[in-house]
Amino acid sequence: MRRTIFSDEHELFRNEFRRFAEAEIAPRVAEWNRAGTTDKATWRKVGEAGFLGANQPEEYGGAGGDFLFDAIVIEEMARIRAHAMMLSLHSDICMPYLREYGTPEQKERWLRGAITGEVILAVAMTEPGTGSDLANVQTRAIRSGDEYVIDGAKTFISNGQISDLVIVVAKTDPKASPPHDGISLILVETDRPGFRRGRNLDKLGLKGQDTSELFFEDCRVPASNLLGQEGRGFKMLMNMLQQERLSIAVGSIASCRRALEDTIEYTRDRRAFGQPIAAFQNTQFRLAELATEVEVGQSFIDALLAAHVRGEEIVTEVSMAKWWTTDLQKRLTSECLQLHGGYGFMSEYPISGDYADAAVQSIYAGSNEIMKVIISRKLGLG
Ligand SMILES: Cc1cc2nc3c(=O)[nH]c(=O)nc-3n(C[C@H](O)[C@H](O)[C@H](O)COP(=O)(O)OP(=O)(O)OC[C@H]3O[C@@H](n4cnc5c(N)ncnc54)[C@H](O)[C@@H]3O)c2cc1C
Repeated sequence: MRRTIFSDEHELFRNEFRRFAEAEIAPRVAEWNRAGTTDKATWRKVGEAGFLGANQPEEYGGAGGDFLFDAIVIEEMARIRAHAMMLSLHSDICMPYLREYGTPEQKERWLRGAITGEVILAVAMTEPGTGSDLANVQTRAIRSGDEYVIDGAKTFISNGQISDLVIVVAKTDPKASPPHDGISLILVETDRPGFRRGRNLDKLGLKGQDTSELFFEDCRVPASNLLGQEGRGFKMLMNMLQQERLSIAVGSIASCRRALEDTIEYTRDRRAFGQPIAAFQNTQFRLAELATEVEVGQSFIDALLAAHVRGEEIVTEVSMAKWWTTDLQKRLTSECLQLHGGYGFMSEYPISGDYADAAVQSIYAGSNEIMKVIISRKLGLG
C-alpha cells in the first residue's frame, strides 16, 4: 500500500540517508559484526552528515524535524541490516531525555555533542538482579556535599563499550516508599574515576552491537549531573517509553519487509523437483500470509507514527504494536529461514542473522509480557 504519512521533504531525506547509509554504513556492517562493536569515526560521520538528532532542536545543532525523520532512519538502517549501529537508541531513546529534562548547560554540553556524533549515549536501567522490575534497581547515587556517589552494577547495556555518556538509573533515596519514588537519573561521563566497563557480552544476535556490563565503585559526579528532579526518575522513564517502544515497532516491521523481500527472491531462484520452490503452493501461501501481516502491521505503525507526531498519548496502542510487530518478526524470520532450507541456517545467508537478531526484540524495551500487562490494565483487568 502507498504510505501517506511522509511528505516530499521526508522522501527527499530518505533518499539522502539511503545514499549515505549505503556508502558509509553498509560496507562496515560485516566488520562490526566480527568486532562486536561499531567505530566512533563512523558515528561522527553520521553526525556530521546531519543524520543524528533530525528530530532535535536547531538551537543545539539538530534539524528541528518531526519524529518521522527519525523513523525513516530506523527503517533505512533495518533495510541494510545495520543493527550494530543503534542510531535509534542514541537519537530516539537517549537524546529525548536530554532535550526534555536537561538544563541549558547540560544540553549545550551533551545534546550538542550527541547531535554531532562526538558524544555517544547509552541508558543504563537493567541490573544483574533486575530487569522488568525496574523499581527494584539497587544501584545507589547518594548525595554527598555537591556530588553524587554512585555504587552498583548494570548489565546488558547497549553502546556500553563505546558510549561517552550514560544515563544511569539509580536510587537517590533507597528507603523511599513506594520504591520508585527514590529513583533518579544521573548523567555519568565514562571517563569518571570509579566508572568501569565490564565484558562486551557474547550474544545470539545483534553481533556488532556492544552490549555490556557497567560497574560503579565510589564513582563521584557533580550534583549538576542530576537529570531533571531527584526522585522523578521513574516518571521520566515512563514518559519516554512511548517513543522507545514505537521505535522498536517501526524497526521490526522494516526488518520483516527486508527478510520477506529477500525470501521471495530466493524462492524464485531456488529449484526443487524441476521447478522454483516459489511455484509450490505451500511457499506461495506462507509468503502471501506473511506479506498480509506485514501490510496490516505497517498500517497500524503508520497510524501510530502520525498520532505520535500529533503529540497524542498512545502508550497502550504502542504497547500493542511493540508486542505484535516483534512477535511477527520472530515468526516471519523463522518461516523465511525454513523456506531457505539448509542455506537458511548458513551464516552467509542474511536470513540466519535476521532470525537471530529478531529474538531480542520481544525482550528489551519492556518485554512483550510486560506490554500485555500494560494492555490488560488498560482493559481494566487488574
Ligand atoms: C541485546 C540487549 C540489549 C539491551 N539493552 C539495554 C540497554 O541499553 N539498557 C538497559 O537498561 N537494558 C537493556 N537491556 C535489558 C532489557 O531491557 C532486559 O533484558 C529486559 O527488560 C528484561 O529484563 P530481564 O532480562 O531482567 O528479564 P526478567 O525481568 O528477569 O524477565 C524474565 C521473564 O519473565 C517475564 N516477566 C517478568 N515480569 C513479568 C510480569 N510481571 N508478568 C509476566 N511476565 C513477567 C519477562 O517477560 C521474561 O519473559 C538489553 C537486553 C538485551 C538482551
